[in-house]
Amino acid sequence: MLHATERVFPSDKTSATQGQIRWDTAKSLWLFTMIAGAIAALSLTPSWGGFTVFLVTTGITICAGHSVGMHRLLIHRSFKTPIWIEHILVWLGTLVGMAGPFGMIRAHDMRDWHQRQTECPPHPSHGAGFWRDAWWQMHCRYDLDHPPRFEIEPQIANDRFYRWVERHWMAQQLFVAIPLFLVGGIGWVLWGVCLRVAISLIGHWMVGHFAHRIGHQGWHIAGLPVQGYNLPGLGLITFGENWHSNHHAFPHSAKLGVEDGQLDPGYWFIKFLERLGLAHAILGPSDRPEREGLTRTEHSEQTRQCDTETAFCSF
Ligand SMILES: [Zn+2]
Ligand SMILES: [Zn+2]
Repeated sequence: MLHATERVFPSDKTSATQGQIRWDTAKSLWLFTMIAGAIAALSLTPSWGGFTVFLVTTGITICAGHSVGMHRLLIHRSFKTPIWIEHILVWLGTLVGMAGPFGMIRAHDMRDWHQRQTECPPHPSHGAGFWRDAWWQMHCRYDLDHPPRFEIEPQIANDRFYRWVERHWMAQQLFVAIPLFLVGGIGWVLWGVCLRVAISLIGHWMVGHFAHRIGHQGWHIAGLPVQGYNLPGLGLITFGENWHSNHHAFPHSAKLGVEDGQLDPGYWFIKFLERLGLAHAILGPSDRPEREGLTRTEHSEQTRQCDTETAFCSF
């Protein structure tokens, strides 16, 4: 029997495993364009100014935008903030260049729904090897023959700002590109848009790939075909998204680095907002009932065994 999640509702006809992996033309051409611009940035317009623009814009969009705005706030509702702050954070998350707000919720929640069933196909489980998974995740989509009903709660789905951002999510880059062009010329646009988006998309895929295959597990959820793994050492550059075993264990928690020494800049940013009076009701690991079958595994290194021929995995 298929389980429902907060936004995904299977019917009797729904199958979680019957589907096709199809080339996603728009997504693929978007990434290839960004990679071309990234190569141009590095080879034709190298500069310390461009490099600084890249670092600052990547840090803001990934930390405040993707990790805090999109993931911890919009998708998991792990803390509360005034709507204008939420809009800014989610908009910054859109600038990462992956999808609009609704597309991000859908991609996250469909994957999460797949990973909560007894059997998870290789696309949503990151079951394929490195290169094939890269192609599948960054250039293709997984179309189920009989998909479940997917429903975003009305206060998000009917939000006029989110609807506008969703409709024009690629064009949001113009709000970064035009000021960069006016100040630093085409070179800054290549560094601050193309290189940033290319690195963000590839980096996001890599974290997702490895965080479902190898690392310090920390927590195990019995009966599930896919587990999350912590990737120690990557806290600062992923802004805390590397603590993925913790995230599978406590999906509602605003804090991803739940243990001592687990660096989590995204959570520091939320605490900073709290100090300014702009965040409250911040959820921690124990603020919701424990997931069924959750057990602590001592920090043992666990590696997922993959059969690259069929791309199905087992532990
Ligand atoms: Zn996961
Ligand atoms: Zn999540």
